[in-house]
Amino acid sequence: MSDFIPPAKPLIGDEERAAVDRVLRSGMIAQGPEVKAFEQEFSEHFKLGRACVAVNSGTSGLHLGLLSAGVKAGDEVIVPSFTFAATANAVALTGATPVFADISADDFCLDPTAAEAAITDKTVGIMPVHLYGHPAKMEQLMQIGRDRGLHVFEDAAQAHGAALNGTPVGAFGTFAMFSLYPTKNMTSGEGGMVSVADAEMERNVRLYRNQGMEQQYHNEVVGLNNRMTDINAAIGRVQLTKVDAWTKQRQDNAAFLTANLDGVTPPPVADGAVHVYHQYTIRVHDDRDGLAKALKEEYNIGSGMFYPVPNHRLKPFQADVDLPATELAARECLSLPVHPSVTQADLERIVSAVNTLAKAGA
Ligand SMILES: *Cc1c(COP(=O)(O)O)cnc(C)c1O
Repeated sequence: MSDFIPPAKPLIGDEERAAVDRVLRSGMIAQGPEVKAFEQEFSEHFKLGRACVAVNSGTSGLHLGLLSAGVKAGDEVIVPSFTFAATANAVALTGATPVFADISADDFCLDPTAAEAAITDKTVGIMPVHLYGHPAKMEQLMQIGRDRGLHVFEDAAQAHGAALNGTPVGAFGTFAMFSLYPTKNMTSGEGGMVSVADAEMERNVRLYRNQGMEQQYHNEVVGLNNRMTDINAAIGRVQLTKVDAWTKQRQDNAAFLTANLDGVTPPPVADGAVHVYHQYTIRVHDDRDGLAKALKEEYNIGSGMFYPVPNHRLKPFQADVDLPATELAARECLSLPVHPSVTQADLERIVSAVNTLAKAGA
């Protein structure tokens, strides 16, 4: 059988290894100059026009961003249910309640109309997810935020470099979080980057990241240790020099798949949106699970289901809400390999396999 085509593949090169070695040899490996440089370079690279604060994971970034905005027990934050559980977990960890709203069928992201309908007198914020690397409908969501006096927070875990009508994701909300987990579009090993709208948010995230201290041993709030190490930052700085080429490769791979797949629905791209294809997610209308199984067993092609169980049905949340677009997407979504290591021959194998299976009714 042909070689396995994995659904994701982190890319770590000699430059990353040399950068780690440089930090290890320096003897100073905890948060230090590498982290500071990475924060500045990340903000500049993605033209965010705002400060960034590095933390030890994307989930920590969401948690600290929410704490920094004052989200607390008794509050509600509106989130999509069709996302990784970290989105809702971060809200719940502040003591607030994640309130699940439906997605739009045309971009897999939070539906502004559904989000607005979920607002109560306890709502303090709305946190869309730029799912799969496609920007959420930020203009409408920001307008709702302004009209109703609510924060908008961005879960940009999957969307490094995505943009909407010329504005990069991460430059809209009170804060935004980019994940740097190994399978994301760029990595620092583990890590997260928080972009912040103003100096007060920046100060708060820095405080919560480090036990509530700006000045050592003069703790101002109850904080955590969610610092990034210089080892991780050194990896991230190298990845920043490569991520644009990887994104271009993802987009080229996606364009080929969209032009050639037949019998399944390719991922939509909104007008004015730059999609960075963290995932290339098709809809399989008949038997998604059967198609995924056959891809693996008959063609040695990996795929992913993001996400088969919507958050509102997960054990910790169990919300009694009716989210038809979410339920349908959870049944139909299938992510095909699109990462930069996928070759032209791989793409041709994927197209041929999916088209054959789709024609046969999976
Ligand atoms: C990966 C991811 C997170 C969490 O990021 P970690 O770095 O793994 O903690 C949060 N939200 C979404 C949508 C993600 O894909």
